Amino acid sequence: MARHESPSVLRSRVDRRFSSVLLAWFDHQHRPLPWRKNRHPYRRWVAEVMLQQTRVAQAGPVYERFIQRFPTVRSLARASPDEVLKVWEGAGYYARARNLRAAALVLTASGPVRWPRSSQAWEQLPGVGPYTARALASLTRGEPVVALESNGLRVAARWTLERGDPASNATRRRLEAHLATWLPLDRPGEFNEAIMELGETVCRPVGPRCSECPVRDGCRAREELADPSSIPTRVRKGPRPRVRAAIAAILRDGRWLVHRRPPRGLLGGLWELPGGKLEPNEPPEAAIRREVREETGLRLADLSRAGSVRHDYSHFSVSLDVFRGKAIGRFRAEEPTDSFRWVTPGEFELLPRPLATIRAARLIGRMTADDGARALPATQARRRVASDRRVPRPT
Ligand code: SF4
Repeated sequence: MARHESPSVLRSRVDRRFSSVLLAWFDHQHRPLPWRKNRHPYRRWVAEVMLQQTRVAQAGPVYERFIQRFPTVRSLARASPDEVLKVWEGAGYYARARNLRAAALVLTASGPVRWPRSSQAWEQLPGVGPYTARALASLTRGEPVVALESNGLRVAARWTLERGDPASNATRRRLEAHLATWLPLDRPGEFNEAIMELGETVCRPVGPRCSECPVRDGCRAREELADPSSIPTRVRKGPRPRVRAAIAAILRDGRWLVHRRPPRGLLGGLWELPGGKLEPNEPPEAAIRREVREETGLRLADLSRAGSVRHDYSHFSVSLDVFRGKAIGRFRAEEPTDSFRWVTPGEFELLPRPLATIRAARLIGRMTADDGARALPATQARRRVASDRRVPRPT
């Protein structure tokens, strides 16, 4: 009889209900995300890699574009690195795109594609870490393993009142071991997806919606704490370091000089405008002249400032002073010359570029358009303004 059960027996009954209640909620409430339409390993793999560092709302359009452009692993393997980076544009952390392509080459290297059959086999592919391997093996092969990313770890930590830092291996292992005892063997992939979904939509980092939570009965953070969101303990980070740099569209015969970043590291393989960091107390205009001279041997004439662009990366933020100027002198780069190209603005748009560069190029495009309008005879300029006014303004 229930009233004679000890607290530990009652607790284990509640624990066992966790997975059935969670899955019932997921079956009815899950969001119709594009990668859930098709469980093919290729599509789930692309989605899991994309979701490692990119929020769902941001990943959705990039995922659709990626699958449309590369519908199969073979089409991905055939693509050039630039094509893959271009389609990935906007998702950030470009090493993931390079690794996807590298893994596609491995998978298609010898005859028919053999998709990994276990989490260990997934981990052999470039760019696939333990979490992604477990998530994919549970989703595509039903391997009974728990896979917790940051959202799932948060839910598990609150439910079990785990006060350790979920980023530490010891805490992560403890939480995974705890949840493994509730893992439904017939639906491990959905269980992992459901716990992530709950963390994304209900058990949010700040302001968890406990009154709507399907697993609120038995959640120790809700029952024992005035503020469930105090778990996990947040480590206070200092402000992001700020970097200031100057970049320029360097013009010659209607073309811009552009530069490809080294293949590895931050924004590896992407194309950007030449420039670099300001030295202490160095004005931006002096910095861009110095950087361009050092990088390319060119000097700049008719230099004008187009504006500034700020962009936040995970560990720092950058503020770019954007210039436009004409190239003077002979080009002699210190780096291999295939890292540089002269391209028209239209050709530049087709190259994979960081978001900050895209915004800088827009500033320069706007500046050039304004110059063009100023150069028009007064009557033509008036006609142009009148036709611009017919374009509906965004509200
Ligand atoms: S009851 Fe609240 S704290 Fe507990 S899992 Fe649900 S949303 Fe999170």
